[in-house]
Formats: sequence, C-alpha cells, structure tokens
Amino acid sequence: MSETRSPAIQEFEYRAEMQQLLHLIVHSLYTHREIFLRELLSNAADALNKVRFQQLSDHTLEDEAYKITITLDAEANTISVEDTGIGMTRDDLTARIGTIASSGTLAFLDEMKKADKPVDAHMIGQFGVGFYSSFMVADEVVIETRHAGKDAQGLRWRSSGAGSYTIEPMDRARRGTRVILHLREDAEDFHKPFRIRQVIRKYSNFIEFPIYLEDEHINTVKALWRKPKDSITDDERAEFYKFITNDFQDPLGHVHLHIEGLVNFDALLFVPSKAPAGLFQGEDQKSVHLYSSGVFIQDDAHALLPDYLRFVRGVVDTDDLPLNVSREVTQKSPVTTKIRATLANKTLGMLKEWADEDGDRYDTFFAEFGPLFKTGLATEFSRRSEYLDLLRYASTNVEQGKTTSLADYVSRMQDGQESIYYLLADHMDTALRSPNLEYFRSKGIEVLLMVDPVDVFTVMHLQAFDEKPLQSIEQADLDLEAGKEDALSGEAEDGLLALFRIRLGDRIQDVKASRRLVDSAATLVVSSEGMDTQMERMMKMMNQGFEASKKVLEVNTAHPLMKNIWALKEAGERDDLIDQAIEQVYEGALLIDGNLTQTAGFVDRMTDLMVEATSVR
Ligand code: ADP
Repeated sequence: MSETRSPAIQEFEYRAEMQQLLHLIVHSLYTHREIFLRELLSNAADALNKVRFQQLSDHTLEDEAYKITITLDAEANTISVEDTGIGMTRDDLTARIGTIASSGTLAFLDEMKKADKPVDAHMIGQFGVGFYSSFMVADEVVIETRHAGKDAQGLRWRSSGAGSYTIEPMDRARRGTRVILHLREDAEDFHKPFRIRQVIRKYSNFIEFPIYLEDEHINTVKALWRKPKDSITDDERAEFYKFITNDFQDPLGHVHLHIEGLVNFDALLFVPSKAPAGLFQGEDQKSVHLYSSGVFIQDDAHALLPDYLRFVRGVVDTDDLPLNVSREVTQKSPVTTKIRATLANKTLGMLKEWADEDGDRYDTFFAEFGPLFKTGLATEFSRRSEYLDLLRYASTNVEQGKTTSLADYVSRMQDGQESIYYLLADHMDTALRSPNLEYFRSKGIEVLLMVDPVDVFTVMHLQAFDEKPLQSIEQADLDLEAGKEDALSGEAEDGLLALFRIRLGDRIQDVKASRRLVDSAATLVVSSEGMDTQMERMMKMMNQGFEASKKVLEVNTAHPLMKNIWALKEAGERDDLIDQAIEQVYEGALLIDGNLTQTAGFVDRMTDLMVEATSVR
C-alpha cells in the first residue's frame, strides 16, 4: 500500500487464474464487445430481483423505485450503469467480484487458451465471465455500492484490470450499485446514445425493470409469456429465448401455455438447438425460471421438470404459489407437482408432434439431447407409452446415421419373431463387425445397435415394448433355428467341443456349437447370469477390482477351420498345431470383444502359423 493514500484504502492482489482471465479478456476478445453492457444490465436486474424478494419478508428495507439508469459522459469518457438493487458488502466485493467463482469460468479460460486466436465475446454468456467483460472496453472500472439495510457502509472498488484492485469506504446515500467504466480509446462509440439504445434493444429488452438512458425509458416490453400466444412474433420469441439463455442461436422449438384449472400458470418453454456444455455431466445448473405472480423467484427451478427433460429452458409464472416462497417449499409444494406433470405432458406432446410431422427437427433434437432423454427409461413411468414412442435407436435395417423408433422396429418384425433384438457396443464400427450379428444378417432379422454409453445403463429398464421382450444378441441361450446341414454333428461335434474344453480349461465357462455364426469361426457369448461385454467394460472402468464372469465360446462347426482341426485329430496328427489353432481361435474372439489384454502371444502364434503356411512344399 502506498504512503500517500488514506489508510482506509485497502489493496488486494488478484489470484493467478484471475490475472490470466483478465489478460485474455483485454487482449483476445474483439467481436461483439458490446455484450459487456448485457452483463452489467443483467447483474443490475439480478440485484433488483434480490432486493424485491427480500422486501417481501423484511419490511425494514427502504422503499426505493426499482430501476436501472445509464449515464454517458463524452467529456470524461465514461459510461455508468446504476441500479437500486441489493448492493454489495465488503465481503461481496472480495469474494464475488475479486475471484473466479464458477467452474464454467475456468472452462472458458481453457477454451480461450486452446483457441489461440481472437475469440467471439458471444461465448462469454455461456461461461459466466460476467462483470469482468467490462475490461473489454474499459481501462479502469469503478464500482460504488451500498448494501440494502440501514447500517450498511458505502464502498468504492477500483481496478485497472491489471494485477490488483482497491476498496475504500465512501459516502453513499442510497442502497444499490453504480458501475463506472472509463472507456478505452478504441471503445468510444459506447458513449453515443444511439449505440447504447441499439445494444439494449438487442440484448436486454426483456429486463423487467425500467432502464433509463439519461431520462429516456428504453425497454418497454412486458412479460412476454403472459401475452396471448398469437400476438407474439417468431422474432420476438427467439429474442426472448436468447435473452434468458444467453444462447446466440435460435431455439429448435417452443411451447407456449396458458393453463387454467386445477392449477393456473403461464409458461413459455424452449428446446435449444444445441446441448450446452456440461449438460450431460449435470454441471449445467440452469433451468426454468420461476415467477410467482409476475415476481421473479429463481432461475433454476429444477423441480418443475423431470430430470431427463432438464434441457428445457424458459419461464413459468404462476399465481398459485405464495410470493415469498422458498426453494424448499417450491420443491415440495403440490402446486409444483401439478405444474411439473403438465409441463412434462406438454413437452412430450411437442416432441411427439415433431416426431410425427417434422422428422428432421426431431432427429436434430434426438442427436443433441437423446443421451439425456434416454435416462428417463429409469424414471418415467406415468407417461410410459408416450415416452417409449419417442425413443430412437440405430439399427441394422436403417441407413447408417439414421435411427428407428421401437414401433417401426416392431412393424418390421418377421413372422414368428418374438423378441426385439439389440446389441450393445462402444462404437458403431465394433457393433457392425460383431460376429454375433451374422446369424441375424443371414436371416434378415433386424437388430438395434446401441452404441451410446448411456444405453448400457438404460436398456435394462426397457424390458419390453408392445409386449415384445428386449433380448441382447450376446446372450448364450438365444432361441435360434437349427444349424447348417454341412456342419459337424454327433460324435464329431462332441469330439471337437471336447478338444476345446480340455485346452481352454477354466478360462471359459463352456464351449458350444454355434447356430449364430455364418462366416466367423468362433465367438464369445454371455452365459445366462453374465452381463453384456459393453456393460462389463463400464463396470471395469468404474471399479478396478471388478471380476468379469466367464463367457461361453461358441464355435462354428460348419467352418472349414473346425473341420480341419477335427480331421487332424482323427488322423492322429499334429497335436501341437491343433493346440495352437484352438488358442488362436479363442484369443481371436477375445480380440474382437476388445478384451485381449496380452497381444504378444497372439502375434507370435500367428507368425508361426504363417511360416508354416508360406513354406514351399
Ligand atoms: P455472475 O453475475 O455470473 O454471478 P459476475 O462476475 O457478473 O458473475 O458477478 C459476480 C457477483 O457479483 C454476482 O453474482 C453478484 O453477487 C455480484 N454483483 C455483480 N454486479 C452486482 C450489482 N450490480 N449489484 C449487486 N451485486 C452485484
């Protein structure tokens, strides 16, 4: 701290990651710099919402018009944004303004470092850089603030965005916050009123508190969700969507509801056109905004939708919840339960309409949100059949890249086919190469290909559709038609299987003659108590000590290799070669399953066999 300053001025260093973030903001964000104003206005609106909410229960707070005022000073080269909101304490200034709070911001930092080129400031909205975007246009920022409540002290925060900031006490008559930006030379258009008006209309038109530019009231839009559906244009709706989500793309679709009856509410819900970062990991904590009689309550009302629909964004406004409702009360209230049921029904109804009438739109939806949507298999029982109709899977009978519904699968089932067959795999290529598909291919029986990681955990909840049980084609006890005529049979078959059993010992559960193989010599399948290969892989990933159960080796007794092995045995020749072949068949099947851990033996044996095969006789 310098000597000349009053002792009341305290100086604070930014943490290292904050310094990096500031450096990037100042030096790398060039396009759409005007969004700094959106961030300041949305902070101001948040602060106003907070104080309005607090006043519902605390009557000692001073009465003050809720408003935001923007002041431009061309001479001093400043723009300031002032609100009559909740204000900030010293702790708020150091803990919330001075540090990076969210993991989203750190993710943003990483993205920016990776990008290694000028970044579009549009991205900021998705990561919550917020207040610090001011430094895109300002070389000094001052915050003057006083927390609501009688005894709070006015405070002045100041920083040039380099290594540190200062805080000092000041006299401030009213609660609220004023943020003053000293504009950089290259940002001077931001003290032109027409420019500011333009930015507000573009990004902040839907802020529910009046915004004044000097004395002019700029934003005039009222709660859009309360207006009759038909009185709103597509553009207005898209603009509103962007306002509440900070997404810069149009939404994929919407549903607008005015519900009266057992429960009364207005809702305007959207499906984004892209899944936001962190959605599947549950890190994206945003959700539907809840209003009670037009008063903002919370912006993450997760209780209003089932978890598998948590990609839905929008606003719900009800007169049926008390105004000063707490989070806990919202979660448990029967009103919430009723609203949730209606919203889930209507959302599924909208998706059904897309699926029936606008297949491309539905496919886009499912490609983006399908993995999350499928988690509803474990939880959605009250709308089970509507829900199941909306599931989509890749399949052997549809073009690659396309999907089928379960109903369409059933309509293509063959006479006498009783089950819906599926194959779990970690990748489409692995699935398509699986020897277990050969029988089904040769008979033209359709198999669903489940290659999404979440399928492993969700398919077990999909026990049947339309009374047809789901059946994994990896299971050993599949009821398949009898094998081929030219296969080994009787004693020969028994003899061959015994050779394998003796050689492989307790590495496998059993050896059986296969009915499912056409071109391949052998495959590993799952015994009735075992789990699918893909499931096993997941278990191993989650639990190092996980012991997979033993598999059944099925051999194709019509395959020339099997006949050769048996012929050698009968001739009493080359036991060493028979053993080598059996090892190779077994490890080859492991390899295809992705479970061959030691490859050296496999390659050595193959080399030996090739030496034999290529030697001049
Ligand atoms: P975010 O708004 O995403 O939380 P910001 O960096 O913009 O991130 O703001 C950080 C915090 O600082 C806010 O969450 C809020 O607590 C506080 N804050 C910012 N602006 C204001 C304001 N005008 N009035 C009161 N508090 C504010």
